[in-house]
Amino acid sequence: MSDENNNDGKPKPLGLKGGSGTVRQSFSHGRSKSVVVEKKRKRVIVPGKPGAGPGTRPAGGTSGGVSNSEMERRRKALAAAAGQEAERKAKEEAETAAREAERAARRREREEKEREEQERIERRRAREEAARAPKPAEAKKVDPNDAPAAAAPAPETDVSRPAAKQQPVKRPEKAREEPRRNKPSKGGDANDRRSSGKLTINQALRGGGGHQKSMAAMKRKQERQRRQMMGDNNVEREKVVRDVQIPEAITVSELANRMAEKVAAVVKALMTNGIMATQNQTIDADTAELIVEEFGHKVVRVSDADVEDVIQQVEDDEKDLQPRAPVITIMGHVDHGKTSVLDALRKTNVVSGEAGGITQHIGAYQITTEDGTLLTFLDTPGHAAFTSMRARGAQVTDIVVLVVAANDGVMPQTIEAIAHAKAAEVPLIIAINKIDVEGADPNRVRTDLLQHEVIVEAMSGDVQDIECSALTGQGLDKLLEAIALQSEILELKANPNRAAQGAVIEAKLDTGRGPVATVLVEAGTLRNKDIFVVGEQWGKVRALMDDQGKTVAEAGPSVPVEVLGLNGTPEAGDILNVVSSEAEAREIADYRAQVTKDKKAAVGAATTLDQLMAKAKADENVAELPIVVKADVQGSTEAIIQALEKIGNDEVRVRAIHSGVGAITESDVTLAEASGAPIIGFNVRANTPARNASNQKGVEIRYYSIIYNLMDDIKAAASGLLSAEIKETFIGYATIKEVFKITGAGKIAGCEVTEGVARRSAGVRLLRDNVVIHEGKLKTLKRFKDEVKEVHGGQECGMAFENYEDIRADDVIEIFETEEIERNLD
Ligand code: GDP
Repeated sequence: MSDENNNDGKPKPLGLKGGSGTVRQSFSHGRSKSVVVEKKRKRVIVPGKPGAGPGTRPAGGTSGGVSNSEMERRRKALAAAAGQEAERKAKEEAETAAREAERAARRREREEKEREEQERIERRRAREEAARAPKPAEAKKVDPNDAPAAAAPAPETDVSRPAAKQQPVKRPEKAREEPRRNKPSKGGDANDRRSSGKLTINQALRGGGGHQKSMAAMKRKQERQRRQMMGDNNVEREKVVRDVQIPEAITVSELANRMAEKVAAVVKALMTNGIMATQNQTIDADTAELIVEEFGHKVVRVSDADVEDVIQQVEDDEKDLQPRAPVITIMGHVDHGKTSVLDALRKTNVVSGEAGGITQHIGAYQITTEDGTLLTFLDTPGHAAFTSMRARGAQVTDIVVLVVAANDGVMPQTIEAIAHAKAAEVPLIIAINKIDVEGADPNRVRTDLLQHEVIVEAMSGDVQDIECSALTGQGLDKLLEAIALQSEILELKANPNRAAQGAVIEAKLDTGRGPVATVLVEAGTLRNKDIFVVGEQWGKVRALMDDQGKTVAEAGPSVPVEVLGLNGTPEAGDILNVVSSEAEAREIADYRAQVTKDKKAAVGAATTLDQLMAKAKADENVAELPIVVKADVQGSTEAIIQALEKIGNDEVRVRAIHSGVGAITESDVTLAEASGAPIIGFNVRANTPARNASNQKGVEIRYYSIIYNLMDDIKAAASGLLSAEIKETFIGYATIKEVFKITGAGKIAGCEVTEGVARRSAGVRLLRDNVVIHEGKLKTLKRFKDEVKEVHGGQECGMAFENYEDIRADDVIEIFETEEIERNLD
């Protein structure tokens, strides 16, 4: 066809070739023109007759133009539809994958929770076992902690990350592909597809990812809540493992503080361990350790001593030591001349003699003898002070001068002084005083002393004995010489060039000056502005005053000084230590205050006989059970001591560190406390100050009236088998004011109940000067004229004893009840 057209030589005939494709058009003036209709037709056909078009088109060139583009469009539409389908499928797949992941995560979470619950139960069980076997428990405890720490986050990331990671990787690809596929296509469905594609991607990636993200967030939230609830898995998140210092006792809040954990969490952890404690309660080191481990921190145990480490005694090098003055305490029976001897010696002080002899009373002072020897005297009032200082750890006395009046001989307080000095292992010098008095018999003193194992030089012993008179001054120089000699033997030395340490001789609260302490420097040199800790107090030296009342800049070993600048009043016997900082001083002082508080709370269980025995048996170093014995008569004392000393076996020996006749005094209590001994009162009682002191210090006083009972108890204690015991409970005291004789009824005591209560049914003892002179029952207990069951403290009453009439005014009636109690061996 195209050839025909070409033959015409015109391009048009090409179109006319079919005939039907050419139209002759007539114009005016007879002209005509053949017009190729094809185009026109095409124009007409396409819009007007679509149906006719195809009919003719297959034969003509229509199939080439229209259907090609159409085909192309359709192909694209098909491809787009296929793409859409693929996208929908991808979207569905992504959604199901997300759902699956979510489901899996939830399942895993549930499993994890169950596992943790299981582990928690196991941990608790392990902890219970830990009470018996701490080490395996520790291991167990650490493992569960570590395990969830490692395991828990891992699955978490496994679940959330792959989803998050894979999709972001896919996203760019898909995102790139899809738009490319969509771009060539036009029209509404293409837009739909695009938007649906976007949706798909968003859902699959952003939406799905978003969903997973929010799930992870939810999981994190749950995890956080769980941690808060548990309180013990913080380590998973915190990962900061702290070294937690644990002292012997620590409050819950302080423990939480040191671990940097929430108090509530610690309380919770304690609860899961079966310990109900509030934040202010104190828990012991073992419990604290358990908790610290549970939180995954490291335990650093600090013992009592650690806090005071800074003031630990440094062993001085021999070459640093310099001679120091001896510290002397004068002891003896009342009126034997202690004060007189001290005064007389003070007068020999060449230094103060020059200064007019006025000595400030500060409880201690120094004397320079004629030959230049410096002596430090402690002016402690009585033996109790000496021993109470020792009980507080201050062994300041180097030499005890025991004053015995030659005209009086060895008396109870002389014996007591010997006991105190011996217990403190301080050498004695015997000053046989009042030799100027008529009837003075120094030899009697010497022989008397033998009974108390004090063998003086005159009796071929090694204890120096000096005859002297404080009144005439005779022999005082010899006494000083003896002291100097003894001091030489002792080779007393101290290092003056170190942080000062001293002992408080006495302390008071001075109006105007504040708390003031007289301190005897033991080592080092105390200087102005030194920061120190003394007992439970601390301070900074504001001023130092010597025994003459003069301000001094420093005080070396064996020098007594008054110290100003304390924050509180310490107690006699407290040790002063210079430390490097106020913080240190305060910390130690606080710590000591706490220890005292704890100790006070524990008082009562301190020194019981059986505990002492048990301790003595358990501790290889303790081979002796010290005992203080007081009895009504000398005979009983000796019998008791002998019997007691026989009781001892190879392991433990009972040793009477002091014995005497008469009431138990405060001095006995302090001696017992210092030596960790119980007091045995045989037919004697403690006087009120002694009773108070024993209660306060936790010294056990056991009263006996029958020596066999005493023996049995000691034996039982020694063998650790205390059987059922008749426990006696003191219920009251009454003082006899007047004794009435009533015919027919005998003697009736008009009494006042001074303490506790008097009961008709109770047992009674009649005490005269704190010595038991009768034990029995009451015949009557009357209030006015009526017979009553009991009379309370502060009230007056009439009492009469069954079968006993020797009652006197000022006698004291002790009222007690007895009950049999089963001894608990654990
Ligand atoms: P303290 O209770 O042990 O302190 O005894 P004191 O020093 O108070 O003395 C008691 C009494 O004994 C006082 O009246 C002193 O005068 C007196 N006295 C002390 N020493 C002597 C002495 O050596 N000779 C004489 N004759 N009397 C003395």
